[in-house]
Amino acid sequence: MIVAIDGPAGSGKGTIASILSKKLNLVNIDTGATYRCVALKALRNNLKVEDKDEIIKLSNNIDIKFDLNNNVYLDGENVTKEIRSKEVTSIVSPISSIIEVRKNMVDLQRRLGNSNNVVMEGRDITTVVFPNADYKFYLDATLEERVNRRYKEYQEKNIDMSYDEIYENIKARDYNDSHKEVGSLTRTDDQVYIDSTNLTIDEVVEKFIEVIK
Ligand code: C5P
Repeated sequence: MIVAIDGPAGSGKGTIASILSKKLNLVNIDTGATYRCVALKALRNNLKVEDKDEIIKLSNNIDIKFDLNNNVYLDGENVTKEIRSKEVTSIVSPISSIIEVRKNMVDLQRRLGNSNNVVMEGRDITTVVFPNADYKFYLDATLEERVNRRYKEYQEKNIDMSYDEIYENIKARDYNDSHKEVGSLTRTDDQVYIDSTNLTIDEVVEKFIEVIK
């Protein structure tokens, strides 16, 4: 079974996917984490977003794994926290626009989805990665609400980003993520659209479960 969830940064995809994975016994695949791993590896190799060829090369043989507790491993190292850093967050969207990088990550995501029952969240899961998924959702919320959520989350996790930095970053990613040559965030008629702006986490989960049941 494949449950596919797309939506903009901060819409709650990660939280909802994690709860659904436990309730429905699915493996949770955070596809944003795969692009974040490429961005982290690029930073560690002192590459800039402009060094496209080098970044593509690096993404050709990158080793990314997930465990059942939502930990992310890059070349065997647990990078779950590091991939959320300000540095990674500020370059991940342009890096994920590189078509060859997307191709490599989509291949990896399909391999993961084909070998497990999964809930997979990202920007192009319902449209490109698994257009024939059993259930397809678009999770949304207003920009202000998404920034508030991210700010709260980062404070809890001790991630050093101010409210204004988060606001500017999410706004820029919203634009970039919906204007990509390939894999743009798009709404389609066959997604179930859920606006979580005024809903609690439990209420959102309930809506998902209603559809899946
Ligand atoms: O979901 P998250 O915010 O961690 O994703 C980080 C970035 O990775 C997004 O801003 C987007 O640019 C990119 N991404 C993507 N396609 C996906 C998931 C994430 O391009 N399926």
